Amino acid sequence: MGKIELTKVRKSFGDVDVIPGIDLTIENGEFVVFVGPSGCGKSTLLRLIAGLEDTTSGTIEIDGKDATNLPPAKRGLAMVFQSYALYPHMTVRKNIAFPLKMAGMDQAEQDRRVERAAKVLNLATYLDRRPGQLSGGQRQRVAIGRAIVREPAAFLFDEPLSNLDAALRVGMRQEISELHQSLKTTMIYVTHDQVEAMTMADKIVVLNAGRIEQVGAPLELYNHPRNLFVACFIGSPK
Ligand code: ADP
Ligand code: MG
Repeated sequence: MGKIELTKVRKSFGDVDVIPGIDLTIENGEFVVFVGPSGCGKSTLLRLIAGLEDTTSGTIEIDGKDATNLPPAKRGLAMVFQSYALYPHMTVRKNIAFPLKMAGMDQAEQDRRVERAAKVLNLATYLDRRPGQLSGGQRQRVAIGRAIVREPAAFLFDEPLSNLDAALRVGMRQEISELHQSLKTTMIYVTHDQVEAMTMADKIVVLNAGRIEQVGAPLELYNHPRNLFVACFIGSPK
């Protein structure tokens, strides 16, 4: 599962229409990247899907069910925050298990899920360390682990690598792509970085001032940009 359908989704803050109206379908298992310049509404759109912001109008369906008015915890999605959102005083194991503990899951099932996530993320030997004893990349993996254990219908990433240095970013991109290949769960990934979009996405959604300029596979956008904005932004020769 993990199909997300937006119909005429609109968001205004006061009298500013940040997202005037978006229609978008994200298929189960897709890796979708929202890309666009700073301030174009990427985070807002992701937060609407996550339920962290209320829509002004329009509907959001998740796996065929109306989720427009559901609180974040009931949507079955996992937002992956940047690595600084870890609890410094807790071990890696406790950080990863935290959402399960909050949900009141029994200890054996918590342990099983944490072990499995740690294996997928190559964190098995780090479970008893604290975040301060890990590298930036390892901390980022712990943040992802905390999302994996919830077995969400989709993962939502908002510029998760922007705090990492350039070399680490390349490695983490690769890791997130591999994670998608092994889990086959829907992922929505927000970035202002064209290279990230081109290398990671099955489908790119190019946003500009709260509107979708074009949706398509990376090569499709590169070879057939619909307008000058997309051409310039993607960097294709139009
Ligand atoms: P991006 O993530 O693409 O950089 P955002 O979604 O954060 O863009 O912001 C889109 C626009 O909405 C910006 O002009 C921003 O100032 C505005 N905005 C975002 N959140 C709020 C808010 N809570 N109140 C008022 N304006 C907001
Ligand atoms: Mg943003």
